[in-house]
Amino acid sequence: MKNIKVKRTVILLGILVSFLLLFGCSEEEDYQLVQESRFALGTYNQVTVYAPSEEEGQDIMDAVFTRVNEIENLMSINVEDSDISKLNEKAGESSVTVDPETFHLLDLGKEYKELTDGTFNIGIGTLIQLWDIGGDDQQVPEEAEIGSLLNHTDLNQLILNEDSYEARIEDPEMIVDLGGIAKGYAVDQAVQVIKNHGVEHAIVDFGGDVYVLGGNPDGNDWRIGISTPEIGESGVVGRLFSSDMSVVSSGDYERYFIENDQLYHHIIDPSTGHPTDNELSSVTVISDSALEGDILSTAMFVMGLEDGLDFVNDLEGVEAVLITKSKEVYLTTGVSDLFEIMDEEYTLAD
Ligand code: AMP
Ligand code: MG
Repeated sequence: MKNIKVKRTVILLGILVSFLLLFGCSEEEDYQLVQESRFALGTYNQVTVYAPSEEEGQDIMDAVFTRVNEIENLMSINVEDSDISKLNEKAGESSVTVDPETFHLLDLGKEYKELTDGTFNIGIGTLIQLWDIGGDDQQVPEEAEIGSLLNHTDLNQLILNEDSYEARIEDPEMIVDLGGIAKGYAVDQAVQVIKNHGVEHAIVDFGGDVYVLGGNPDGNDWRIGISTPEIGESGVVGRLFSSDMSVVSSGDYERYFIENDQLYHHIIDPSTGHPTDNELSSVTVISDSALEGDILSTAMFVMGLEDGLDFVNDLEGVEAVLITKSKEVYLTTGVSDLFEIMDEEYTLAD
């Protein structure tokens, strides 16, 4: 008799557990989380997808990173026969025919130089090479050298022919560098590949250029950490709640070297030829294109706090989080309810 009772209880419990499993099973259970990180475009690129199966997740990873490699092979200044390397090599000599994708980014580079009042300039390649921040030859250059290279950053010297996809640099001393654009573009393209595979929830994070696809499978927004800009520290200043958005940061903490207690970082002010020096330590741009976010975060960092805020407030569909060296956080109105400070050393500015 006792035995039977126990058996019945076990069966009942069994039913209850399956019931709970069925109902407790959030949407999340229908997905396989697949995550991979590969090196390209000078940084680690992490992709997280919620795929129908592990196998499909792997196929998506391969497709994404194949696409990223295509972009790198066209646009990287560090790839010997990329469109950009060929264009720079022929500066002052002749035109080169480039891929329509490269052409598109060169064209955008010219457009954004105007829109950002010269703070974003793909024509400062010689200065980027001279400083070589994060590279094998990083150095504090001679002032005279900086001064002379500043004469070779005029983007009007980059001539584009829309009909033939030909590009030409007239000034033999000028170099074009898409380092401030290509990563954001690659993020958008990766998201496109993931969407084409029917995936609804994913995170693409290419060295701090992030896009969150869909929302978190648990039904909430994604929570995206905004990195602390403190040199040598990891951690987050706060978090942002977002879905279907790109969240792209630029800051002096990303790539730098220190000499005689002075920080030299990778965001060059095209008006001085030096690493940008103002009250900002990072700018995060929230918009629906990582390409645009990549450009605007760099540009706003160069503009500084006041001009950067004025600039972004005039733009539709673009929000920003600006963090100053004195640990104040400035938010545009569209994100004021979506951002939460987590590090109590930081304060929200009014
Ligand atoms: P980001 O990390 O997105 O701010 O981009 C910085 C990268 O863009 C640098 O590593 C350079 O290759 C390039 N860059 C630096 N300063 C500028 C600038 N003022 N305009 C355009 N590209 C820049
Ligand atoms: Mg950028």
